[in-house]
Amino acid sequence: MIKLNNIHKKFGDLHVLKGIDEEINKGEVLAIIGPSGSGKSTLLRCINFLEPPCDGDVHFEGKLITKDSKILNSYRQQIGMVFQQFNLFPNKTVLENITMAPILLKKYSTEEANEIGLALLERIGLSDKKNEFPSKLSGGQKQRVAIARALAMKPKAMLFDEPTSALDPEMVGEVLELMKSLANEDVTMIVVTHEMGFAREVADRVLFMDEGAVVESGSPKEIFTCASHPRTIDFLSKVL
Ligand code: ADP
Ligand code: MG
Repeated sequence: MIKLNNIHKKFGDLHVLKGIDEEINKGEVLAIIGPSGSGKSTLLRCINFLEPPCDGDVHFEGKLITKDSKILNSYRQQIGMVFQQFNLFPNKTVLENITMAPILLKKYSTEEANEIGLALLERIGLSDKKNEFPSKLSGGQKQRVAIARALAMKPKAMLFDEPTSALDPEMVGEVLELMKSLANEDVTMIVVTHEMGFAREVADRVLFMDEGAVVESGSPKEIFTCASHPRTIDFLSKVL
């Protein structure tokens, strides 16, 4: 579904991504782990062109993605993104946060968009919050709304950048449960995470990054029980 071919990213002299080659299959759940500063967020941002790669290609369903606005807009509508800091619109209600993109970008009527939004709110157990503003929600509730907002566009793939890192510990579970239910529905997901339990239990494949490169990738079992690279072993010894 998504094919990355020799992706490089530099910020000035800083060479952050040093040639990433990966393929993500339809329905696959890929967990990306690795130390802080290794380029995980940058890789996600290059995948959806929030940061255009300096070199290399992204293909989506066989099509080359370019900066051409028509190609890029259509591509971005098919890729949902969930951020560490939720990034909800503070001056929109919960329901409006969810319906805004379908109305603006997919030209849905308010009624159609509300129908989708209300069904998603029911799914995430927040129907009673539909008219609240984000400031009235807990962190876990905000993140569930952010996930619902991304899902409202019916994306073909979802990118998650440490979706539970900004949450108080007691709220991590509710967000991981929602992500797990998406994974069980065969949603294609790329998840940057520090939640090793989630990676081990839910991911089809785990990819370890360090210093802008993929050091190794494999099934959760391969990575967590018999990683072969010293840097992976060292990282896991610190986080497990
Ligand atoms: P990770 O998500 O693995 O912690 P990042 O992708 O956020 O790593 O960052 C990798 C490196 O790129 C870091 O050294 C970071 O400071 C740098 N970096 C990320 N984004 C930018 C940017 N927009 N401008 C300059 N440097 C950046
Ligand atoms: Mg990051």
